[in-house]
Formats: sequence, structure tokens, C-alpha cells
Amino acid sequence: MDIHEANKRIEELRTLLWENSRRYYVENSPTMSDFEFDARMHELEALEAQFPELITPDSPTQKVGSDLEEEGGARGGFAQYPHRYPMLSLGNTYNIEDIEAFVQRAEKVLDGTKFTYSCELKFDGTAICLNYRNGVLYRALTRGDGVVGDDVTRNVRKIKNIPERLSGSGWPADFEIRGEILMPYEAFDRLNREREEQEEQPFANPRNAASGSLKLLSSSEVARRGLWCTLYHIPAESLTGEDGQPIFETHSQALDAAASWGLPVSEDRRICRNISDIEDYIHYWDGARRSLPYATDGIVIKINELPLQRTLGFTAKSPRWAVAFKFQAERALTPLLSIDYQVGRTGTVTPVANLRPVLLSGTVVKRATLNNADQMALLDIREGDWVYVEKGGEIIPKITGIELAKRPEGALPPVFPKTCPDCGTPLVRDEGEARWYCPNSLNCPMQIQGRLIHFMSRKAMNVLAGEMTVEQLYRLGLARTPADLYELSALQLMALEGWKERSVIRFMDSLENSKQVPFERVLFALGIRFVGETTARSIARHFGDIDSLMAASQEELLAVGDVGEVIARSVYDFMHDPDALDQIARLRAAGLRFTVGERKQSLSAVLEGKTIVISGNFSISRDAMKELISLHGGKPSSSVSSKTAFLLAGEKPGPEKLHKASELGVKVISEAEFRAMLPDEAPAQGGLFDNEPTLFD
Ligand SMILES: [Zn+2]
Repeated sequence: MDIHEANKRIEELRTLLWENSRRYYVENSPTMSDFEFDARMHELEALEAQFPELITPDSPTQKVGSDLEEEGGARGGFAQYPHRYPMLSLGNTYNIEDIEAFVQRAEKVLDGTKFTYSCELKFDGTAICLNYRNGVLYRALTRGDGVVGDDVTRNVRKIKNIPERLSGSGWPADFEIRGEILMPYEAFDRLNREREEQEEQPFANPRNAASGSLKLLSSSEVARRGLWCTLYHIPAESLTGEDGQPIFETHSQALDAAASWGLPVSEDRRICRNISDIEDYIHYWDGARRSLPYATDGIVIKINELPLQRTLGFTAKSPRWAVAFKFQAERALTPLLSIDYQVGRTGTVTPVANLRPVLLSGTVVKRATLNNADQMALLDIREGDWVYVEKGGEIIPKITGIELAKRPEGALPPVFPKTCPDCGTPLVRDEGEARWYCPNSLNCPMQIQGRLIHFMSRKAMNVLAGEMTVEQLYRLGLARTPADLYELSALQLMALEGWKERSVIRFMDSLENSKQVPFERVLFALGIRFVGETTARSIARHFGDIDSLMAASQEELLAVGDVGEVIARSVYDFMHDPDALDQIARLRAAGLRFTVGERKQSLSAVLEGKTIVISGNFSISRDAMKELISLHGGKPSSSVSSKTAFLLAGEKPGPEKLHKASELGVKVISEAEFRAMLPDEAPAQGGLFDNEPTLFD
């Protein structure tokens, strides 16, 4: 096939694929089967690989994932592709003697040849392989089994420091670069705090959080998670010029070049000449790494000269030219004093160890979680044991081992309670689940108070009150459920111990203000098991109001982006629970919002009767833009037709929509032109949906 024939076929394929995608995502009626779609996509990829000069940025091979996902949600699952070069793992060791042996072996094999070592930090994340063709990112694969990886391109495009296009010059036409996806400590802490507030199992460490986040189906949630990337290896096979000759002499030159192309490469690398340089580097970073914003677990030592790497070659599992030295995790030994069994708002009983205070990673540790009964059995923990505590970036330190030499004679295992430590109800456990819980959700004091605290929390209804207030209201029989709060009177509160006129006014005001809290947060506040903030938002937007949600079947719930079977069942059960329905009815009567957009009156009627299609990115989110159109009387729509008043095009509008608009003679306007149409009182940006301010920030 010559270039003209190829060009013709490429155009045909692109038109077919775009049309199918549009029908799939916008109209939900694809013209091709998934198999056919993939086959055509492969054909197009193969042609573009053969004629790279014909690749355009708007080709479906470049666009699949990012744009399509925004149009209609994830397609589900991940395609798998083979790695061009197997992704091997490194040999690793905790012993410095092994590093000395590695150096001696290299010197012996390379007998007399002068060479250097590139020493680098070993990042504790999940491996990624990025492929760039003509300077454009076209595929990102996870390690998978080393031979085949999951295609996570869609999600990788949401990671801020990974460039879509390379800058500078001199990059190979088609190459891959490998590295690690990390979750910085700050993002990790934030994510786990959210999960704990929602009684979801927190991630054990930033590595798990990074790999879990990379495999999410919702790319917008990936974007929110704050992942980071660092790259550290370009396979030598990728580094040849058009003449087949290597472009670089050394690995470190290749990484320096990658950095100049805009790729994220660590600056904390050092060229070492001998074992003493290497040991200095290890020693320095064993301390200095604690001030890094993300987790590292060791040092990687690579022979720097690429021809010598080839000489040394590979074993079946790992390269012979590199080795990893791993740092010991920081841990402390301290005696176990006692174990508390805490009851959460969903009834889960969590064992928490009280320890003799001990210094660990610069903080004093007094308590550590034991997670659940299974974990306690696994550790075989006994009363009076000395335990090892570790803090690998976790918020709550963990007990990871027992010092058997210090075990008192005849020490007995602690007895996990058979009944709720709070209300005495026998605990139960669902099949296949590790958690024991108190089934007395209606009358267990800790669960009742836990639910009230959750309901009033800042991210939920934002009612001004602390745990002491909740305890007092509960103890006096004034509030057991959220709905009771709205039936309290100022006179009642004035009579209570410790309440002053000012605090009563503030409390009543914040209850009144909570009636303006959007539906999605009301839904979160209800405390449905497994329904966190993000899920509540998705469900609220999907169903629009509580009546549609109450009428929804489990299948209909599963149609929501990030709702799986467990969540669907939990929401369904909640919406069919008589007590929950009673709560909803009373809260509704109190004036809380149970409809998306209920509070919002229209701002003007300047767009009355106009159907408006939006495409591309704006200064506000797409949802907020649709909301803005509605607020001015317009009707947002997703596909261009002869009835479309105009196409509102932001940055990077979809070429398909632009094409359709020009075909039908539909006017295309910019965001600035659109805003100029609106009366002055229209908000400049935000505040409508996504970034709605909380009441008491
Ligand atoms: Zn209980």
C-alpha cells in the first residue's frame, strides 16, 4: 500500500470510528460491535504505525479515552495489550553485602572497561509504561503480568505531570518510557480521611492507593485523586535513531533528554564511580527520603553505559545490569497495654490497641489499629505482648508483628467480644466478611450518635455542633435521628445546661442554613452504607430526585457510573427500609432538598426556547455550564441537530460536533461570546455546582 492509498483508508477508518463513537456515547446506539470497533481501531493503528506522518492529533487512535469518556462515561473494563519489551522486575535486597557482590560481579564481567553507576531513588508506587509516537502520548499500560498490561491511557491522561505532547526535540519517533505512578502523602492522607469518615476501608499504603486509583473506571475520579508520575527507564531498544544506531551512550543521558522533552524525571539521581560512592548515596537517602512528599522504599543501582548493559544482559526474570537496595521499614517495639473495641456508625466493631507511647517517624504513637478479628488471629497477639508498630504513610499506625522473645509466660489471646461493647447486643458477621458488627442499628447508642455526627459533619449538612452536643441531646432524649434535630425549639435548647442565647441562635441558624444544602450532600448525610461523597454525587445527578431514586431497581442503580453491586444493593435496601423512609419523609417535611437544582430559580430568560449544544472545556465544569444554560432558560443538549440554536465551543471542541454544526449551518460561539449574551448578574464562574461553598468555611 502506498501513502496515498493508506491516506484514503485512514480517512475512511477515522470517519467510521468517529461516527460509531458518537453514536455509542451520545446516542447510545453504536453502529458496530465492540469486536468490530477494536478490529478497525487496530487496522488504523497499524496503518498509522506504518505511515507515522499521517497521524493527526484528532485521530481516534489519539483521542480514544479522553474525549469519549467525558461524553458518556467509561466503557467498562480495560483493554489489554502486550508490552513491546517484557517488563521485568529488579532483583532486590536489604543487605549492603549483596550490593557489594553486585558491584564485584559487574567489575569482573566488564573486566577493565571503565564504567559508572546511575543511582536513583526507588519509588513506592505502581509501574507504568508510556508510549509516545511522534511526540504524542498514545498508550499507557500497567505492568500486568510483565508480558501483557492493562490499557489505562484514559486515566493516565488525567495525571497532571504526564505530558500529552512532548516539547523540545530529538525524541525517537516511536518509543516507550517506564516509571511509577505515585500517590503523594498529602493526597493519600486526604483520600484516607474521606474513606474513614465514610467508614470505608482505608488504603493500607500509598502504593495500594495509587494502583487502585489507576484502575478506576471513572476518569474524573482519577483526576480528583491527585496521582503523580515519575519516569526512570527508556528500554535501550527504544533508543535508536533512523539509522538503527543508539541515540545515547548512557542511561543518564537518556533520562536527561527525557526531562528536556517535558517528561517527569527525578532530579535526585547521581552518577557513582564505585561502591563507596554508592554507599554514600544510600546512606544519604536513608535519612533524606523522609522529607520527600511521596514514598520511596529503596535505591536502584544501574550500570550507566548502554552498550555494557547489553553485554551484561538479562536473566529470565530481571536485568543483570541493575539491582535494588531496599530500606527497612521504620518500626518501633512497645508493649501492648489494652485493646478497645470501638463501634462505628454502621455498627462495625474495630479493635484498637492502646500502646505504651513510643516515638516513630517523628511522632508519638499511643494507639494502633488491629483492623478486625481475622487480623488479630493472624498476628496471634496475646495479652502483655510486645508489638512492632509500623507507619508506612498510614494515618493510623499498624501492628505488624509480635516480639515472641518478650512474650510473658502463659499469655492468653485477647477475647474478641461476643456482644456489642456499647449496647450488649450479640455481634454478627456476614459470610465472607472480616468485620463483626452490632446489628442493633436502631437502638445502639454509639451507632445513633455516630449517625448524628455524620449527618451534621461539615461535608454533609454542616450543622454547627460537636460530639459533646450530640451526646447531650441523645442522653436527654431530645435527638436520636437527624429528623429530630429539625423539631428542636430554641426554648428547649435555652433550658439545657451550658447553652447560651448566642450558641442557641448559631445552632438554629446552621440548621436553617442546612436546608439549602444540595441534594447530593443530603444523600451523603443520610449515611447509606458504602455511599461516600463521590458516589452520592453520582447517584444524585443520575436520578435527579429522591422519588426516582426510591423507585429505582438494583439494575437501574447499576447504571450509575461508579455504582457496583454492593453499593446498588445497599442503596436499594436503604430505600426500602421503613425507618429510613420515615426519616426521609420527615426531613422532606422539614424543608431539606431532595431534588437536584430545587433551590435554583432562573436567573434570566435570555435563552428561553433555545437548545444549546456544548463541546470542549470551559472555565467552569461541563455540568456547571449546562446548569448555567438552564438557569437562563436555555435547554442544554448533547447532539447537534437542525433545532440547535448554537454550538457553544470551549477549548478543544469535538471535531465531530464542529463538522455537524457547519454542515447544518448552526452558529458556533465561544464562551466569551456566550457570557456576553447573559445579563450582568450572571456569576462570573463557579459557585453553581462543583465548587459550591460550604456554609461555614
Ligand atoms: Zn451496639
